[in-house]
Amino acid sequence: MRCVVANWKMNLLAADAAAWSEGFLARYAPASGVAVGVAPPFPLLRQVGDAIRSRGVRIFAQNGHAEAKGAFTGEVSMAQLQDAGCAGVILGHSERRQLFGETDAALVRKVKAAREWNLLPLLCVGETLTERQAGFTLEVLGQQLSILAETGPGPLWVAYEPVWAIGTGLRAEADQVREAHAFIRAKLDLFMDRGDYQAPILYGGSVTPENFPELLNIPEVAGGLVGGASLDPAKFAELAKQA
Ligand code: PGA
Repeated sequence: MRCVVANWKMNLLAADAAAWSEGFLARYAPASGVAVGVAPPFPLLRQVGDAIRSRGVRIFAQNGHAEAKGAFTGEVSMAQLQDAGCAGVILGHSERRQLFGETDAALVRKVKAAREWNLLPLLCVGETLTERQAGFTLEVLGQQLSILAETGPGPLWVAYEPVWAIGTGLRAEADQVREAHAFIRAKLDLFMDRGDYQAPILYGGSVTPENFPELLNIPEVAGGLVGGASLDPAKFAELAKQA
């Protein structure tokens, strides 16, 4: 299965989202074997879902809290995301890890909670430039994936997003992507029941319609998690088509 997910991050207002949905639907034709997702900010989840869900597009949240309810001012629970029509949730994005102190321990709870509420966890992993330059890329990926030993097997998508390639226009080289994805697959085989469920591994970091076909040719690259380019509905529809 191929997968393409738009990560809008903290962008677009309701009117922009309406125009985006219209522009995307005008160009998008669902294809078998291709799963397409869109992750709008919380206030737009329902609106975007209502606009495009009927075409088979899955709505993802960009984060979710592990507790189902209670005194957690400013947080949104997985139960609420499911209630708002989400099919999945992005977890452990590097911006959440770096800017909001998201830890691996918190991610164990979040992956479990997402599954409890029937949300597909899309777990992001990736090294910083300093970590890559110091030769620690695989160690970092191994550490970030080791939470799966605690969550156990279950539905999962993984996105490999080298932090230095996010929003920078610097895409990782094919060899770097190949090495990381093969390593992630080996870890998934270790932590998840082999043969039972093969989690797709997406690449993220400055994906565009110009570089996506080449990325899709790399073994174990099942698709893309797309930030900047996904804000343009024509580009995102093109990426969905390429998948
Ligand atoms: P980018 O973002 O495509 O703008 O590099 C990707 C992401 O952060 O998921």
